[in-house]
Amino acid sequence: MKVYLDNSATTPVDPEVFEAMRPYFMDVFGNPSSIHSHGREARSVVERNRKKVAELLGTSPAEIFFTSGGTESDNTAIVSSVRKGVRVAITSPIEHHAVLHTLEALERRGEIALKYVQLTQGGAVDMAHLEQLLSTHKGALVSLMHANNELGNLSDVNAISMLCKSHGATYHSDTVQTMGKYVHNLTASHINMAVGSAHKFHGPKGVGFLYINGETKIDPFVYGGAQERNMRGGTENLAGIVGLAKGLEIAYRDMEINRAHITGLKLQMIQELKEKVKGVDFNGLSGDMDRSLYSVLNVGVPESAENDMLLFNLDIKGISVSGGSACASGTNVGSHVLDAIGSDPNRGAIRFSFSKYTTPEEISYAVDSLAEIINCRD
Ligand code: PLP
Repeated sequence: MKVYLDNSATTPVDPEVFEAMRPYFMDVFGNPSSIHSHGREARSVVERNRKKVAELLGTSPAEIFFTSGGTESDNTAIVSSVRKGVRVAITSPIEHHAVLHTLEALERRGEIALKYVQLTQGGAVDMAHLEQLLSTHKGALVSLMHANNELGNLSDVNAISMLCKSHGATYHSDTVQTMGKYVHNLTASHINMAVGSAHKFHGPKGVGFLYINGETKIDPFVYGGAQERNMRGGTENLAGIVGLAKGLEIAYRDMEINRAHITGLKLQMIQELKEKVKGVDFNGLSGDMDRSLYSVLNVGVPESAENDMLLFNLDIKGISVSGGSACASGTNVGSHVLDAIGSDPNRGAIRFSFSKYTTPEEISYAVDSLAEIINCRD
């Protein structure tokens, strides 16, 4: 049996998305910047899909910029804000590397001072400490993700955005893991910049978007042609943009039914793991259904010299998952997220992540396989 439980890393393209993209490779293929009819046709496709994305996210098309994905969108949000004069950035140690490595590089070059907000037990943002940092550093850039990709921890973007607004801070939220899983009303939320990546919601890889609220001024990041209203040079990924918009449309259309299905799978996995696998626990807030993404479960297993082989052993059984352990020695590269929340570095960690295509039988197979691996150890 082959079981894919790594949907936070990427998702398979929905056949409906694939069909929607198909005409935009050979039938409609013009360069959207060309002024002839082929180009104009392609331009109208880009703009129609920008409008669709904007409508789904409760914002205006002028605030949606297509990019090559989440990494580019995070880089753009951060680097461009710094070019516009931001001198202090506030983040957390459990952000995705697209955010952390960008901020750290800017700090190394002396362009910003970087401050880390404290996390409470389990890895939630300590709101009192955030307020303290915001009061001391007026006009800072705040970069705090909506859902953590390893743990599934959800942050309260509305509370953070209100706090940022009241302290004159610019709020960038890496929303890659929550796009298409929850309804985002970006205009109402006061988030300045948010991010989407199509391959996380059954769209194609290599295409994403950056939402920049109309009041937020940033500089172009990719210099070149006048595409994306002079913000991001480069010929648009026509078929990719169609696939992104279709993926998001389907995600919104089927959100309730998919959410109920995936939540059921997560509850099933929690229950079966507790019943069948010795010594399991759940990392961060991932076992808390109200405070974590419904599609992610990060499971801790007891200390063992064989933990290094966990993912390999699951792979042999046909199960694809992600892992990571807190890095204690500094000699091996562990998970910076588990490390930051103080996870026991001797325990093993496995991230299971589900999609609308995951079945209850696959969950049971994964649990039984893990039980076979763990329970027969000394
Ligand atoms: N941010 C988060 C939270 C992610 O999970 C990912 C993908 O793993 C990214 C950013 C990067 O997105 P992309 O793969 O589109 O560059």
